Amino acid sequence: MLRKVNVTHPFWTKVTMIQEIKTGQSLTDLGEFGLIDLIARKVRPSSAVTIGIGDDAAAFQWRANCLALATTDMLLEGVHFDLSFCDPFRLGRKALAVNLSDIAAMGGRPRTFLLSLAIPKNFSIDFLNDFSSGLLEIAEEFGVTLIGGDTCVSHSGLVISITLYGEQEKQKVTQRSTARPGESIFVTGYLGDSALGLKLLREGQRKGDVIDRHLDPTPRVHEGLALAEAGLTCSMIDISDGLLSDLGHITGRSAMGARLYLNRIPLSREYSEYFGSDIHERYSLALGGGEDYELLFTAPTYRKCEIEVLFRKFGTPVSEIGEITAVPGIRLLSPEGETVHGIAAGYDHFLPRHGMKS
Ligand code: ADP
Ligand code: MG
Repeated sequence: MLRKVNVTHPFWTKVTMIQEIKTGQSLTDLGEFGLIDLIARKVRPSSAVTIGIGDDAAAFQWRANCLALATTDMLLEGVHFDLSFCDPFRLGRKALAVNLSDIAAMGGRPRTFLLSLAIPKNFSIDFLNDFSSGLLEIAEEFGVTLIGGDTCVSHSGLVISITLYGEQEKQKVTQRSTARPGESIFVTGYLGDSALGLKLLREGQRKGDVIDRHLDPTPRVHEGLALAEAGLTCSMIDISDGLLSDLGHITGRSAMGARLYLNRIPLSREYSEYFGSDIHERYSLALGGGEDYELLFTAPTYRKCEIEVLFRKFGTPVSEIGEITAVPGIRLLSPEGETVHGIAAGYDHFLPRHGMKS
């Protein structure tokens, strides 16, 4: 029998982990993060690694006082994109954007990347041409260069995998594990737009701001770098799996908890107009929907003004949405100060809730 336990572990504290792995166990029992933990536990610590498995990017010594950052993300047909409504140029942009977002979350400067493709035999050359144009357009926008990759045939849909490298001075790299009680929690942009965009696309709609946000997200590279350069953040992550799930990675890895105020969660006009006033309906995608690629970070409350000034320069919204607590767990508070229960947690590739990401 499986025994599920909530344990404190250097990598994952939020997830329910399986104590003992026996043959015949299913991935739906273990979940994505349980599986990563299973692999991570077998890795022997090495002096060559400064930050290993468990953060947005790994880090290792690069030059004197400078760390190299490395991150990798895959986009799979049928999981991350649907060929019936994705446009190849924007798919190219998104493939790199999701990786740029991870380097941004470390406060890093992205530099070079590798591109690996697995392609069905009769796939459209026009599609791949537009895809690579979009990819190289965003690469130029953020000053990163393609340095190699791998290409092979796929027997089950298009697979895109990118590994991105960046750099940052050791003391400026921002991690998930360094949040402390009393710090304010901030988030950039608006939440839930990407998940709403995907919902509308599936319903047949093809145009609109939230659809653009889903198909062509903006990685907050300049903002993440500026925060790190100014030493304004104590911990940081990007929101790829949903606010609650990704905040759970900060609180979990920092062995902390958090209080979130629902009425401070930033919602765009299009999102607000779509949903009614029912609290569960209104906040479910903003808290549990993935792929917003906004930055979530903690900082001392007294630095709020400096943070707001910095974000004004970029024209990017930033909101203070809660605080870190010493008590574990994430508590959601309604405008009346009551604890809210039952809002969806976030994306896990192997748990039964989802068909396609978001
Ligand atoms: P993100 O959402 O920031 O891309 P993930 O949730 O995908 O991060 O991964 C969390 C951590 O687990 C990262 O440090 C990532 O490098 C690591 N990881 C994910 N899959 C594997 C794997 N198959 N083997 C080793 N490490 C992995
Ligand atoms: Mg990330």
